[in-house]
Amino acid sequence: MRPTMKPHSQAAKHRSSQDTEREFGGTLGAVCIPIFLPLTVLFLICVSRSPEASVLQWPPSLPSTDQLWDPLALVLILGWIGLHALLYLMPVGKVSEGLVLRDGTRLKYPINGFHGLCISGVLLMLLLGLGAPLGYLFELLLPLAVCAIAVSFLLSVYLYIRSFWAPSHALALGGNTGNPLYDFFIGRELNPRIGDFDLKYFCELRPGLIGWVVINLGMLMKEVELRGSPSLAMILVNSFQLLYVGDALWNEEAVLTTMDIVHDGFGFMLVFGDLAWVPFTYGLQAAFLVVHPQALSSLGAAAIIALNGFGYYIFRKSNSQKNQFRRDPSHPSVAGLETIATATGKRLLVSGWWGLVRHPNYLGDLLMALAWSLPCGFSHLLPYFYVIYFTVLLIHREARDERQCRAKYGLAWDTYCRRVPYRIFPYIY
Ligand code: NDP
Repeated sequence: MRPTMKPHSQAAKHRSSQDTEREFGGTLGAVCIPIFLPLTVLFLICVSRSPEASVLQWPPSLPSTDQLWDPLALVLILGWIGLHALLYLMPVGKVSEGLVLRDGTRLKYPINGFHGLCISGVLLMLLLGLGAPLGYLFELLLPLAVCAIAVSFLLSVYLYIRSFWAPSHALALGGNTGNPLYDFFIGRELNPRIGDFDLKYFCELRPGLIGWVVINLGMLMKEVELRGSPSLAMILVNSFQLLYVGDALWNEEAVLTTMDIVHDGFGFMLVFGDLAWVPFTYGLQAAFLVVHPQALSSLGAAAIIALNGFGYYIFRKSNSQKNQFRRDPSHPSVAGLETIATATGKRLLVSGWWGLVRHPNYLGDLLMALAWSLPCGFSHLLPYFYVIYFTVLLIHREARDERQCRAKYGLAWDTYCRRVPYRIFPYIY
């Protein structure tokens, strides 16, 4: 486990559990983002199925109420979340401890997300075998998104209210400014739990992430209904994104050391991101391909597969190298790497992947994001929404992480930045 108690407890000495630093545009961002982003999700879904598929079309064609609401969508969303809650509680897989909290304790987490993915896959195959019309998810996409957004708001309200019963050491340092709008958005409580059931950890990788690949499969089945067989472009999009989700769940334990789990409170930002934004915007390429089929040559497909493979290699190797180093710096795979000491007792890698750029994992992730869009051709901007948004997100995330690392490691971080001057793209940025 990573010994982060020192930096946290040092930080805690200087900052009480009430913090006035604001991110994401402060109160203005906290008011605008929860309005703007849900509308963006609905807008993008509408655009992806319109014949023009133009994000610049103005005024956008607005859906009717009938297109936005279907009780079946609510049943499916609640049933899906309920199913994954049951799978989360299954006594399979190992139990891992999170990092040390400010009160010196560690929480326990079940590592069974990959089992959840496999069981979901088996259930889906059974349903398909029984003739379930999975392609109907295409028609249901808007109502499903509306319900996921509504669930995100309700869960965020519940989380905000219950956080007032949490002890002060259980609040996220950045989520307790006293401004209700900002705190609701950014999240007050760090690890809200009902008994042993960890709400943030559950939402982070399960219903939304697995839901995303199920929606993709629905789009593939819709294509089969319409054209008799899935296109090569659709197969590539489905396979690449399944690989990404499968990898995240296979390496589920690694999420315990990410910013989301260690640093961020659980509020609207993460709830909405996990339950609505990821499943309904990350797979837009598949929805786009249903209405806008693309011919893809074998050579083009081979080049895109190679790009995805290259991105995945960098992403996986760099993430695993850092995780291994943080868990056991004396492990033979990382023991030979050059490092620099910091005042906290932890060391920073300055060779290997983390000597190439300061965020090699973001570089690999972005190469994969590009590979997911390329099967959709170059005629429309919409399938490139994810890679554009993700570039902005990771540049912003890198800046947030950089601020936190500078606060944690001080001069040692400056030395690291001098030794490894590029942030994400070698010789560019
Ligand atoms: P990272 O895995 O990049 O971790 C950043 C932390 O790593 C730092 O805070 C620091 O923590 C440690 N670190 C930084 N530099 C070094 C170094 N040189 N040597 C050793 N440790 C170092 O954080 P993220 O959570 O941002 O990303 C994890 C993965 O998730 C990435 O691959 C990213 O692309 C992906 N991701 C995907 C998203 C999506 O929507 N698809 C969204 C966000 C992330 P410490 O020193 O305390 O250990």
